Amino acid sequence: MKYIGAHVSAAGGVENAILRSVEIGANAFALFTKNQRQWQAPPLKADNIAKFKRFCQAHQFSADHILPHDSYLINLGSPDAENLAKSRAAFIDEMQRCDQLGLKLLNFHPGSHLNKISEQDCLARIAESINLAVEAVPNVVAVIENTAGQGSNLGWRFEHLREIIEQVENKQRVGVCLDTCHLFSAGYDISSYAASEQVFAEFDQVVGFAFLRGMHLNGSKTALGSRVDRHDTLNGGTIGTEVFQFIMNHTAFDDIPMILETISPENWATEIQFLRSLEQN
Ligand SMILES: [Zn+2]
Ligand SMILES: [Zn+2]
Repeated sequence: MKYIGAHVSAAGGVENAILRSVEIGANAFALFTKNQRQWQAPPLKADNIAKFKRFCQAHQFSADHILPHDSYLINLGSPDAENLAKSRAAFIDEMQRCDQLGLKLLNFHPGSHLNKISEQDCLARIAESINLAVEAVPNVVAVIENTAGQGSNLGWRFEHLREIIEQVENKQRVGVCLDTCHLFSAGYDISSYAASEQVFAEFDQVVGFAFLRGMHLNGSKTALGSRVDRHDTLNGGTIGTEVFQFIMNHTAFDDIPMILETISPENWATEIQFLRSLEQN
């Protein structure tokens, strides 16, 4: 079975993410558990945690299909010792918030070398950051997102993802989220059904579908290999929709959260219906 939703707002309390997801006909969702543009956040309140858990149960959302996203400020591969320490502490805090909410996944962008350290050193720092977080917090899986490769961001090649995973000690606690917009911007051609088959076969070979814990379903405004991250609607943009037909009919994408981060929230309900219409079974 396929689980589809969107990255919904948690404004007014994390529990509101569930109500917004119900409104658009989703059976999965993503959210920020704190303001994503600030380092510090007040701890989650017991009342919000209780409501979040109660609403999840009432509306039948399982932790397996909820994919929280961490703050944009965190760089787990930072070349700067002070920034790295700050990022690691913030990531552990994010992971703790997930655990408090009964969640099992935490999605994050791997990190940037800022042209100050080698790719390998940066990837090793990211892996060590995951090791530290996994040791500090129980239950939550660190879900590495592939990136568009903008600037000095790593994680745009499947090989980067593999290199990080190889250095994570507890393989049960590390996974991958693939973003279709980022794949295409990074140079993976998924603009047809056949091309998508090839790209995902390559992913399976290099990383392995066993590590796939989530998807971000997005169109792209930029060209193949642009290394520029600009999301579009599913139907608009440069990728086309055959990749979504491939995904909706492949069992490797069963039972994981597939999240829209498309540019028009008012279209989310329609986009979810559109994805459902592609299922052939
Ligand atoms: Zn994404
Ligand atoms: Zn993006």
